[in-house]
Amino acid sequence: MTSPAILTVAITGSVPQKADNPAVPITPTEQIEAVRECYDAGAAVAHIHVRNPDGSVSASPDLFAEVQEGVREACPDMIVQFSTSGRRQDQARRSDCLVLRPDMASLATGTLNFVHGTYENDPDLIREMGTQMVQNDIKPEVEIFDLSHLYSAVRYANEGVIANPMHVQFVLGMPGGLPFRREVFEFLLSELRVAAPDATWGVMGIGKDQLTANRWSLREGGHVRTGLEDNIRFDASRLASSNAELVARLAKTIAEEGRGLATPAEARRILGLKPGNKT
Ligand code: ZN
Repeated sequence: MTSPAILTVAITGSVPQKADNPAVPITPTEQIEAVRECYDAGAAVAHIHVRNPDGSVSASPDLFAEVQEGVREACPDMIVQFSTSGRRQDQARRSDCLVLRPDMASLATGTLNFVHGTYENDPDLIREMGTQMVQNDIKPEVEIFDLSHLYSAVRYANEGVIANPMHVQFVLGMPGGLPFRREVFEFLLSELRVAAPDATWGVMGIGKDQLTANRWSLREGGHVRTGLEDNIRFDASRLASSNAELVARLAKTIAEEGRGLATPAEARRILGLKPGNKT
C-alpha cells in the first residue's frame, strides 16, 4: 500500500492581488475562512503569507498571530506553515514570525535571481533562521529553487542547522530558477534520494504546470501543493473560484493516482510533528 499524500494549500503568497483574482484572501478574516474551507476539502497544511490591508506584503507578527490563532481554532490538528520568504519586504524582519512557533516555516537554502531583483538568502541569515527553528521546534520546509540549494540544505542538515529528516519542496518554473522539465525533476529527486534518503518531499509547478507537478509528485511518492499563491486559474478558460476549489480538485487527483489523502494527524506523523495543536 502506498503512503498517503499530504496536501498543502498556499492560500495567498506574496504576488497575486484581488485585481488578479478576487478570491485571493488578504485580511486575516478572509485567510482564516479560506483555510477552513480548504481543511474541509482535504488540505492538511496551510502555507501562510500575510498582507497589509492594501494588499502589500507584510512580515507583521501580529498578523501572523491572528491567522494562526484563527486557524488553530477553526481547524483542529491542521499544520500551520509560515512563509519566511524575503520577497518584497524588509530582510531583517523575515524571522520575526518564528517567535509564534508555527508547526512549520519555509526556509530557502540559497540565493536566486528573479527577473528583477534578487531573492537574497545570506548564509548567516539561513543559519540564524534554521537555528531559531530548531530551538522552537519548528520544522522547516526547505525550498529548493536551484540545484545548489539542495546540496546546501544537506550541508546545513549536517551542521545541525536543519533537523533531519528534512522536508523539501522543489520549486520548478520560477523565472531565474530551474525550468519546469521532467528531466530536471528526476535529477533533483535522484540526488535527494542519495544525499538525504529519509527526506520527505514535494515538487511544485507554477501556473499551468501545477497539475502536472502534482501528478509527478504523486506517482513518485511525494507530497502535493496547490493554491492561489502558485496558480490563480482553475483552467485555461477561467479563474479559480476559491482556494478550496483547487484543493477539492487535487484531492480527487490524489485518489485517481491511487494515493490516500493524508489527514492532518497522518500528515503530522509523516512529517514527524507532535500530534495536536502546538501551545
Ligand atoms: Zn509562499
